[in-house]
Amino acid sequence: MKRKVRINKVAIFTLITIILVLIVGCTLALNYFGKESVRLKMKGYSSKVIDKIIKDEEITKYALNNKKDNLLIELINVDEFKFSNLDKYKSYKKDNKDVTSKDLVYLVNNDYTEYDYSPNLIEFINSKYYLKTRLDRYLAYQEDHQDLEVKEIIKRVNSNIDYDFYTNVEKTDTSYGYQMICNKHYNIGTYVPSNIVSVASTYLKPGYGGYLDKEVYAAYIEMYNAAKKENLNILVQSPYRSYNTQSSIYNNYVKKDGKEKADTYSARAGYSEHQTALAIDFATKTTTGLSNSDFGQTKEFKWLQDNAYKYGFILRYPKGEEYITGYMYESWHYRYIGKEAAKIVHDENITYEEYFTYYVLKK
Ligand SMILES: [Zn+2]
Repeated sequence: MKRKVRINKVAIFTLITIILVLIVGCTLALNYFGKESVRLKMKGYSSKVIDKIIKDEEITKYALNNKKDNLLIELINVDEFKFSNLDKYKSYKKDNKDVTSKDLVYLVNNDYTEYDYSPNLIEFINSKYYLKTRLDRYLAYQEDHQDLEVKEIIKRVNSNIDYDFYTNVEKTDTSYGYQMICNKHYNIGTYVPSNIVSVASTYLKPGYGGYLDKEVYAAYIEMYNAAKKENLNILVQSPYRSYNTQSSIYNNYVKKDGKEKADTYSARAGYSEHQTALAIDFATKTTTGLSNSDFGQTKEFKWLQDNAYKYGFILRYPKGEEYITGYMYESWHYRYIGKEAAKIVHDENITYEEYFTYYVLKK
């Protein structure tokens, strides 16, 4: 009798222990398999991807409720990945199988889905001076000029060279002040600058005279004095010109050389930078006219090449850039754009056309 009771006690104890172990085990197991990371693991996601997924509640919910998403796995490691764009990534990827994860995220995030993926597209986007607003023009120009590098296409289109000179002309926005542009694509109309001062005879090439914007005049004098210390005389030959003056100058050249030739060296009325009062044709004591074989050979010119930008001036029509500026090389024609801008133009070795579009207009 006594033995039986003992056996029963042992049996009950064992049974209770087993039940307890089962309860604890089941709870632990439920806990374990209920864990999001474990459930994701069971769906086939790697620990590394899971770490990223569970950082975001929405992505976690999506991953748990859908089958393993290979594109999600591919893109979640890209820094700019946006879960809200997942459907767009999928649809772009479907049409552009070659696109890399990084490019896919970039193109969708930045609204490029209307463009087919190609390394060429990415090259444009990654190029300096690239402007998204001009992409269609870049691509159109490239169609007709397949031999050109992307960099050159951007340079030309930013300078509006995809349009013939004196076509697609826009009005010069004079509110840009020292950064305004006036060229064969920007017409200044009959604009008259308001803040002009007369150039003193000390600074003038004998026999010449005229007006300049006040700040430009002050910057010029600062430059004149600096050059003077090196026994150089940078004199003003032709500063501000009014619409009417330019009109008669241009018309005389047309009479003399014909329109086509005159257009290479003289601006039509309303298109001359001299009308801004921000441009100056320089001379020296010894130069006799405005020519590269004359002024372009002087010490003053050499000095200007190294120093003009420090005073806010740039050589406006450089050698080799005739197809961009629309004018033949003019070693004597300088334009004031302010010190900061002039330093960029100088350091980056770009024309004002390129500078204006990229740094001022920005579109
Ligand atoms: Zn000039």
